[in-house]
Amino acid sequence: MKLLLLFLGMLLFLPLHGEASVHLAVGWNERHLGARVSAEHIAWRDAEGVHTMVLPAQGAVNLALVTPRTSIAVVSDRAAAIWLQRAFLPRYPTRIVSLWPKHALTLLERDAEILWDTETVFVQASAADFPSMLALTLPDGAVRYLSDHSVRFAGGGQPVRVENASFRGSIIFNPNRRGLLTSINVLPLEEYLLGVVPNEMPAAWPLDALKAQALAARSYAVRQRNRHGQDGFDLCSTVHCQAYHGKGSEHPRSTQAVMATRGQVITFDGAVIDAVYHAHAGGHTRNSEHVWGGIAPYLRGVPIPEEPPLTWTRRVTVGEFERRLRARQVNVAHVTDVRIAEHADVGHVRSVRVTSLLGTVDISASDLRAALDRAQMRSTKFDILILDQLRRPFRIHPAPRPFRLELGRLAGVYHGLLPAQPSSVEITGSGFGHGVGMSQWGAFGLAQAGVDYQGIIRRFYRGVTISRVP
Ligand SMILES: [Zn+2]
Repeated sequence: MKLLLLFLGMLLFLPLHGEASVHLAVGWNERHLGARVSAEHIAWRDAEGVHTMVLPAQGAVNLALVTPRTSIAVVSDRAAAIWLQRAFLPRYPTRIVSLWPKHALTLLERDAEILWDTETVFVQASAADFPSMLALTLPDGAVRYLSDHSVRFAGGGQPVRVENASFRGSIIFNPNRRGLLTSINVLPLEEYLLGVVPNEMPAAWPLDALKAQALAARSYAVRQRNRHGQDGFDLCSTVHCQAYHGKGSEHPRSTQAVMATRGQVITFDGAVIDAVYHAHAGGHTRNSEHVWGGIAPYLRGVPIPEEPPLTWTRRVTVGEFERRLRARQVNVAHVTDVRIAEHADVGHVRSVRVTSLLGTVDISASDLRAALDRAQMRSTKFDILILDQLRRPFRIHPAPRPFRLELGRLAGVYHGLLPAQPSSVEITGSGFGHGVGMSQWGAFGLAQAGVDYQGIIRRFYRGVTISRVP
């Protein structure tokens, strides 16, 4: 047991330095209200919060978060019990403790039976004393309640399994202030990258493109570490930071790219750079200040003729166009014209002018992208056409046409003049993403042309050096 404590203690408390021992905490909120976890060891602090208790788990353990918000305070006790029952494996009878002073112990049995034992009151406390609580069912059926403390699962040399996903390192579940469960995967930087690179770039791509991606992802992680410090972890597992899906998503080719570049980061003037990247530059990357305002000397636009062409079209009816703009608080009604108002750099659009009965309004190209769905309107490098019902270019009629508007019996029928409207808005563009830093398709094209990963990095990040993790 002493050896075990020491092992976990090292993971938990030792400040670690040096390239091989940089650890990252990758977190995600609101995912596991209940989870089945397989690990070798579980550790948690006892009710006094003084000691760390370590138990060999040797099998699946069920974990659920009990909070006023997710269960008892908002829904009925019975609904809470059913909710929690789903969170647990049915083969382990589970006891749930109500958070309210006068509620009793709830017993969940195997065949969806819910028994109420009003005699046994496990916890007598107010909700304020127990804003949240972790209920842990061990393989032998014993239940532990952990008031407001985190619980950590460590796999020893084995991955920790959470539901159908597996993770290197260890997993911490932490009740958070919003009454939800924060899951945090603590693992060495290099092992984190194994679960990032194949999710950020197809593993079948050329090895030097994957190596360049590994350097960009490693530099990004080092530079952006603690981006989610307020949430209790370093980086999140989504594209907000970098897509990370754990051990189950690893691929031998991306793993080879990470290991071959182990510890290498991109630096400028001795500091690790903000190695931003995107899917496709549309032939030319952009200066950082055109996108985010800040001038980074290494984020300069460069032509990338090696990119395979990528074009896209986003077509919406005028009705949907109006609805989507109004949903983003852009006031339009009866749109008659949409056109580019101002260009930015290298073929990108800065703003678009929309004419409607309410007048003209300029909206930024990035706001328009957000309104029309960034996955479909893939970049701000585009042209706009307005089309009639036969998908011919719409000709704006200078003279309004007669219209008839029925507003109900009391309001009567009105006749008037209303300008003709196009039928749809068609936006055709190239590129995918913000266009700053490395273009992944550009890296693909360069690698296919025989450029190695260092050459790819130097192409996209100006004046940089490849160094070791500080
Ligand atoms: Zn994030």
